[in-house]
Amino acid sequence: MSIQANYQKIKSQIPENVTLVAVSKTKSVEEIMQVYNCGQRDFGENKVQEMCDKAEQLPKDIRWHMIGHVQSNKIKYMADFVYLIHGIDKKKSLKEVQKQAENSNRIQEVLLQVKIAEEDSKFGMTKEEVKEILEIQNQFNNVKIVGLMGMATFTDDESQLKKEFEYLNSIFKQLKIQNPEFKILSMGMSDDFPIAIEEGSNMVRVGSAIFGTRNY
Ligand SMILES: *Cc1c(COP(=O)(O)O)cnc(C)c1O
Repeated sequence: MSIQANYQKIKSQIPENVTLVAVSKTKSVEEIMQVYNCGQRDFGENKVQEMCDKAEQLPKDIRWHMIGHVQSNKIKYMADFVYLIHGIDKKKSLKEVQKQAENSNRIQEVLLQVKIAEEDSKFGMTKEEVKEILEIQNQFNNVKIVGLMGMATFTDDESQLKKEFEYLNSIFKQLKIQNPEFKILSMGMSDDFPIAIEEGSNMVRVGSAIFGTRNY
């Protein structure tokens, strides 16, 4: 199927209250434009340099999502245009986002990444670490923590996926009570987004199901 047909198919499976982020990492600006021309405006990248290069060449109304693990020294390159940073997993990154957002005179929206997968390779904080960060968020005037992000274990086991998404949603709902800014729960990718949506996701990050498999 073509990229546009893939896109329409995915889009038709996603309820209106759920934001689709089209994950375009490793894909060309031409491929991104095919999806843009279908009306898509939210795109996700996992490398800062690649996102900056593409943003420069592509229409300015694209909302760029940084979904990868962020190194603090790279934040300055995207600080004046990135729409949402999904993968904040330590105070140090938050401090740097604050510094750069202040320089750019912006309020930067971010998500805190929670570790829900069993694999050691996945980044993210524990619930306790998330709480500690939320307690000091007032120190960061130019940062708005608007929700949580998580990546499930790479598995076909649906009950395991369900359990992990359910867990993240439970933390989200609990923290939302005292954090009125909380509005985004970013979970679900090509292989597991339907389960993530069932478990309360309102932002899914879908790459290969739209653009085809990636050749790294
Ligand atoms: C690559 C990536 C995705 C999209 O993965 P697909 O399986 O291609 O949909 C989603 N989230 C993050 C954090 C990623 O790095």
